[in-house]
Amino acid sequence: MLSQELANILYVIAAVFFIYDLKWMAHPRTAVKGNRTGAIGMLIAVIAVLLSDEFVVDGQYLIDIPTILIGLVIGASIGAFAALRVKMTSMPELVGLFNGFGGAASILVAAAALVEATHAITSGTHLGMQERIAIVASGLIGSVTFFGSYVAFGKLAEFLAVKWKLYPWQNVIKYGFSAIVVAGGAWLGSGYFGEDPILASLLILSAVIIGLVLLVKKDRFPGMDALKWISALVALVLGVMVVMNPENTLLYWVLAGYAGVLGVMLTLSIGGADMPVVIALLNSYSGLAACATGFVINNTVLIVSGSLVGASGIILTQIMCKAMNRSLTNVLFGTMGPTGDTPDADEVYKNVKSTSADEIAMMLETAQKVLIVPGYGMAVSQAQHAVRDLANLIETKFEGEVIYGVHPVAGRMPGHMNVLLAEANVPYDKLLEMDEVNSMMDSIDMAIVIGANDVVNPVARTDPKSPIAGMPIIDVDKAGTVIVIKRSLSPGFAGIPNPLFALDNSMMFFNDGKKAFNEIIEAVKEA
Ligand code: NDP
Repeated sequence: MLSQELANILYVIAAVFFIYDLKWMAHPRTAVKGNRTGAIGMLIAVIAVLLSDEFVVDGQYLIDIPTILIGLVIGASIGAFAALRVKMTSMPELVGLFNGFGGAASILVAAAALVEATHAITSGTHLGMQERIAIVASGLIGSVTFFGSYVAFGKLAEFLAVKWKLYPWQNVIKYGFSAIVVAGGAWLGSGYFGEDPILASLLILSAVIIGLVLLVKKDRFPGMDALKWISALVALVLGVMVVMNPENTLLYWVLAGYAGVLGVMLTLSIGGADMPVVIALLNSYSGLAACATGFVINNTVLIVSGSLVGASGIILTQIMCKAMNRSLTNVLFGTMGPTGDTPDADEVYKNVKSTSADEIAMMLETAQKVLIVPGYGMAVSQAQHAVRDLANLIETKFEGEVIYGVHPVAGRMPGHMNVLLAEANVPYDKLLEMDEVNSMMDSIDMAIVIGANDVVNPVARTDPKSPIAGMPIIDVDKAGTVIVIKRSLSPGFAGIPNPLFALDNSMMFFNDGKKAFNEIIEAVKEA
């Protein structure tokens, strides 16, 4: 067994691994190394915890290794299955969901600590103020994270807050989750009914609110803001009550219930293009919840790793807010940007012109500077390798210069495009950030937009009533010629038409992203 000193040394080593993990994750070239370093750090931390002699009491080892192994096998199987089977385009949903698991773990660990401490209280042991506050923070932030992450997952997988017809699997998750929440709340509440009917009813009510709101087909509905503020207030009051009466475990569950209502409300109302901010924020919350749980169980390495995740999530949130030109308060408590009437798509797309691979190849022959702007559609069609091949061909055959303009929120997760282009070995010095590209737009002869929509939509600049008003975009409309490659005129994530497609200097190549690039490559080879 490890003495506390030795365990602490291992915790410090694990923390160093985590810090290098974050540092290396910041760049696609070192991200894989960073990921491995983080995993090794976590392994060291887990071994140090399991072998720590704080779990040896009166010569007896208290940790139930078989139960831990069962959990490990289940968790590792789910993780391995997800990593191997989930498509790259579904990664953002998965990341959203995994954030939620962190929140759920925090709720449960804090509840277990509370139950354990309650038994100790009845036998005369006192629960310290630090543990009480940590238990409340863990339950509150954990519940907001869990339910908020579920909503983010549902919105990214397009089965929550949408009016259209769902696939059977989407219906199963949507209705199944609501049913589980309501049944879980009813089961928990009814167990306490004889003891405290008022609190038990409040718990059931919170579960019913969550279950019902998750079935609503709109992301905003009357009374939503009021419900948001009321649930925040109720959760805070309950938090204080739990601190005062830690022996009343029902209070803790009611707190988790109303924090859950708050989590749903905070995330559900965020629409348009503001989702990246929420994903980053939920990531940060999951770290803060883990950190609070570290204080609950007095575990240094959990406090350190939780605060690292919390802090890096907050930094990412800030970067995303800046990229969207939104303040965090505006994203969380405002209406997420003006919501004017969506312009009629038929009217916007009156003058759309389409083009072909041969025509694009001809134009590329004379273009000296070509800008490629990737978006979510590049991820869907997995076109990154074809994109790189065309860029190489333009440079070798036509001696043109090719650069890439990467918008910070293009795709469905922070860094989505960078990861894909790095996978295709696109040189990093060719990936330019939005501001850099915009400053040289006058010199761009041809911009090729592949599967990007919202991040090149000029209404962000021109229409103050648009849901994406004020969001900085890549100004491809100011380039010499713009080619937009996508399958149809359907909108992007924000759900609004894009007048770029109908501008005089722009042409549409309606095709799947990868197929389109392969066809252009063939046409360039024949040119
Ligand atoms: P958009 O979602 O605006 O548009 C993607 C476009 O890709 C669609 O219009 C679609 O058109 C096209 N597309 C889909 N499949 C294919 C295909 N196989 N081949 C070619 N085109 C295809 O993407 P952007 O990257 O421009 O913007 C990202 C949006 O997502 C922003 O609103 C952002 O806020 C939001 N978001 C970003 C997150 C992040 O962290 N980056 C997280 C959550 C949301 P069509 O169907 O006609 O082909």
